[in-house]
Amino acid sequence: MVAGLASQSALAEDCPGHPDAIGTSRTLVVDPREHPRIGTMQYPETLPLRDHEVVLTFDDGPLPRNSNQVLQILADNCVKAIFFTIGQQARANPEGVHKLAAAGHTIATHTQDHPLTMDHMPIEKVRQQIDAGIASVSAPLSDPSLVAPFFLIPGLLRADGVEEYLASRGIQVWSADFLADDWHHISSARVADLAIKRLEADGKGILLLHDIQARTVAALPKILHEMKARGYHIVQVVPATPQQPATPTEPPQWQLHPPSEKVPIAHWPKIPNFVFAEVDAFPAPVLPNFDAPDGALFLSGEPFNRARRIAQNPPLPREAPWPRLSELPVENAAITLPVPEEKLFEVPADARAAFESAPPRRTEVAAEPEAEGQSKRAAAETRRSERATAAAKHGRGAKTRLARGASQSAHVAHAGRAASKHEINAGKPARRPVRVAALKKH
Ligand SMILES: [Zn+2]
Repeated sequence: MVAGLASQSALAEDCPGHPDAIGTSRTLVVDPREHPRIGTMQYPETLPLRDHEVVLTFDDGPLPRNSNQVLQILADNCVKAIFFTIGQQARANPEGVHKLAAAGHTIATHTQDHPLTMDHMPIEKVRQQIDAGIASVSAPLSDPSLVAPFFLIPGLLRADGVEEYLASRGIQVWSADFLADDWHHISSARVADLAIKRLEADGKGILLLHDIQARTVAALPKILHEMKARGYHIVQVVPATPQQPATPTEPPQWQLHPPSEKVPIAHWPKIPNFVFAEVDAFPAPVLPNFDAPDGALFLSGEPFNRARRIAQNPPLPREAPWPRLSELPVENAAITLPVPEEKLFEVPADARAAFESAPPRRTEVAAEPEAEGQSKRAAAETRRSERATAAAKHGRGAKTRLARGASQSAHVAHAGRAASKHEINAGKPARRPVRVAALKKH
């Protein structure tokens, strides 16, 4: 808070008479040879701006009628910008170049004639356009070193040859991070809206405008006002010199959105470096260890047998890889699966009565642990049979209905009571399926 107030008061002092000026927050010094191409509209890198920092660039001047108004607006806001001037314009309006230098703006170049053909121009013409443009913009200045080694290709129509030549001369190619379409036939309000909207989308960056356009003159005050209202700061950019070294930066800062704490990729675990305690290697296997004559298996891309078959004979019909159904030998099945003895399906006559009259309580039987097993079960059967016998004496349970199922039959037989044959009612559904299910449980 205190720092914010201090910087605001400093800005007010820097821009006397203009308390609402946005001002210029800092000067960034860049070395063109370290970062030869910038501007995310075309290149991976852009200026190492902080969040909410903006660099203003103006193309195609100087054209006195509009460029002078742009200069006045910038002066009223104490804003420094970068001007990509055209050689012919500088020749025609040398006073405009003087004004740029006097105001402390950065003077850069933009070819001699602004050809929109640099993407397919012969390299000799490219060189001519670049060199003549620099010479024309330098001519009005007493100090030619005031022309920065910054260059913007007309129409952003880049080509490898153009960039290579500029790099060979130590000149930085500038593109932009966003535009405001101020060379189109749109209103100044629209220009201002686009500038702010696109700035807000990126949060920072290089804005490219045209100081020769009347609509830009009309839009500029609103753009600067909105930028200040939204907390943006203007940054001036100058080239490094022996007296003024480049602002220290880290490579990620030259990306518009460098990887941050919010990007998961920055936190992927690193591959550990394994350290082996035992570095002695196992002996390599030798061919005789494998059942492969002449090592042919290892020299062939195909399985050995198939490869040899193909070598010796015409190709055989390919066998389907599906598993085949193996036929089950019946005699073996008879041995392994004996026919159940008939008496296994016999149920004691008194047990039928038990099913009818006194079903066992599920709880008392089912709750028994398996380990206590047979004796308790046998005792339960005995009690049940005794009850059945008693019931039979009272004339009940003469008829038996029993659901099908060998398990309970065998189990009842296991109780060791006297058994008599009965008919298993296989065709009909059980009359009391719930009870049968309860029986099956134990
Ligand atoms: Zn231009």
